[in-house]
Amino acid sequence: MSNRFIDANSLLKAITPIEFYYPLLEQRPVTLVEEGWHKAKRCPFSYDCEPSRFHVNLTNGAFKCHGCGVGGANIIAFTMKLNRLNFRQALQKLADDFGGEI
Ligand SMILES: [Zn+2]
Repeated sequence: MSNRFIDANSLLKAITPIEFYYPLLEQRPVTLVEEGWHKAKRCPFSYDCEPSRFHVNLTNGAFKCHGCGVGGANIIAFTMKLNRLNFRQALQKLADDFGGEI
């Protein structure tokens, strides 16, 4: 794990929402021009949520579950909540997971 400075805006430009959320999507494959809200296979935040209650926005990276109510504005917020990380830790994880593109 590197300790170099990671700029949030650069990271959000480098990792597209469709790339980030692709493994979660209910219907695959999707084209690279998909936009707006799409259903996910399941809610990654709670096993109690019914299938297809979790939605992700492939335009801006926002996410929302209509089951447990979790939601956020972008993939950084998603990473923070899912992994219980602070902002800086989430940037580091994203940079590590998508290394070479940042
Ligand atoms: Zn949920």
